[in-house]
Amino acid sequence: MNLESMYQSRGVSPQVYAYGQKIEQELTERFAAIDETAEYNQLKVIGAMQKHRVSDIHFAGTSGYGYNDMGRDTLEEVYAETFHTESALVRPQITCGTHALAVALAANLRPGDELLAISGKPYDTLEEVIGIRPSNGSLAEYGVTYRQVDLLSDDSFDWQGIKEAIRACTKMVHIQRSKGYQTRKTLSVAEIQEAISFVKSIRPDLICMVDNCYGEFVERLEPSDVGADLCVGSLIKNPGGGLAPAGGYIVGKEAYVENCAYRLTSPGLGKEVGATFGVMQSFYQGFFLAPTVTAGALKGAIFAANLYERLGFSVLPNGQESRHDIIQAITFGKPEGVIAFCKGIQAAAPVDSFAEPSPAPMPGYDSDVIMAAGAFVQGSSIELSADGPIKPPYAVYFQGGLTWEHAKFGILMSLQKLVDEGITHVP
Ligand SMILES: *Cc1c(COP(=O)(O)O)cnc(C)c1O
Repeated sequence: MNLESMYQSRGVSPQVYAYGQKIEQELTERFAAIDETAEYNQLKVIGAMQKHRVSDIHFAGTSGYGYNDMGRDTLEEVYAETFHTESALVRPQITCGTHALAVALAANLRPGDELLAISGKPYDTLEEVIGIRPSNGSLAEYGVTYRQVDLLSDDSFDWQGIKEAIRACTKMVHIQRSKGYQTRKTLSVAEIQEAISFVKSIRPDLICMVDNCYGEFVERLEPSDVGADLCVGSLIKNPGGGLAPAGGYIVGKEAYVENCAYRLTSPGLGKEVGATFGVMQSFYQGFFLAPTVTAGALKGAIFAANLYERLGFSVLPNGQESRHDIIQAITFGKPEGVIAFCKGIQAAAPVDSFAEPSPAPMPGYDSDVIMAAGAFVQGSSIELSADGPIKPPYAVYFQGGLTWEHAKFGILMSLQKLVDEGITHVP
C-alpha cells in the first residue's frame, strides 16, 4: 500500500491528502530550520545530562520523605544546566503550570509587595492566584498588591507605562511569553530580553519572572539566557516531552528558587524533601525527547496555519510569521467549523479515537466549550489537542503532537471533517 492509500484507509480522501502534500512541500525550508533548532537543543540537553553524569541509578524512585533522592537532585542540576540558571526545582509535587507559577509568586512576594504584569493580563488561571478575581488564598488576601501594564495595540511593550508603574513597593515583574488564549502575538526571547533590560535599567533589584509555558525549546535561547530571574513551566507541556506523567519546573537564581522550595514543601525543609516514587525515568527521558517533540508540534502548527490560511480562514499566527510558542488559532466564523475541526483531531488520536467531542458548559467559561484530546497523559497539551469556545469569532486553539506524523494526520483529518460537512472544499 502506498502512503496515499494508507491515508485513505484512515479516512483521508486523496483530494485532501494531495492538498496537504502541496502545502507540506512549500514548507521544506521552514521545517529544515525547525529541525536545526531541535538539533541544537538536543545537544544542549544531552550535554547537560553528560556533564552531570546521569546514570540508571538516577531512575530509582524514593518514598517517604525522599531524603537524598539522587535522581531528583541530579535532574534539577540538568534543568539548571540546560536553562543556564543557578538553580532548579523540578518536581512531581508541582501539580501543573498554574501551581508552579503560584509557588514562584507566593514564595517571593511578601505582604506590602507589589506584583507588576508588563505583558498585559496573565493567563486566566492566574487571575485567582493573584486575586484579580477574588479567591480564597489569593495573593491579594495576603496583602500583595497587583498592577498591570497592557501591551500596546501593536503588541509591543508600553515602555512609558512600565516606567510609570514601577513604584517603591514593586518587587516582581511578570512577563508571559505565550499568548495563551489571547489574540496578541507571542513574545520572542529577544523581545523578552529587551523588556528585562529595560526593567533592570530602572530597578536592578526587581525580580523578573517569565511564564515560559509552551515556549520551551521553540528557540535556541530561553528567557533565562537573557536575564530572567525565574522561568516557570509545566511538564505536561514542552519540557516533559510527552512522557512526564505530571509535574512542573521553576529555574532561576538560587535565592529565588530556594524560596520556591520553602513554599512548595515547608520552611526549613525546602529542596531536601519530596519523594519521586518512580517517575524520574520519565522526567529524564521526556526532557531528552522534548526538543524533537517540540519541533514536531511546531511543524504541525505551521502546517495547519498554511493549510487553513490558503482556504481563506483567518489564522494566528499567520502562515509566514516566525514562531515563539506551539499554539495555533484558526477562526472558522461559525460553530460548525469549530466542531468539525475538533472531531477530526479526536478521530486521529491514538487514544479515545472512538469518542465524539461535543460542546458542553465548563467551569470558568461563559459559553459552551468543545475539546478534543486523545492523550496518553490526561490533559497533556504537548499531545495533539484542540479546544474552542462556542462563541464568536468561533476560533479553535490547537497545539501539540508528540510526532510530526501524528500532527499532520490530525490536521488532515480535521480538514476532511470540514470538507465532509461542506464547510470548505480543497482546491
Ligand atoms: C498552560 C498555561 C498555564 C497554566 O498551566 P496549567 O498546567 O494548565 O495549570 C499558564 N500560562 C500559560 C501561558 C499557559 O499556556
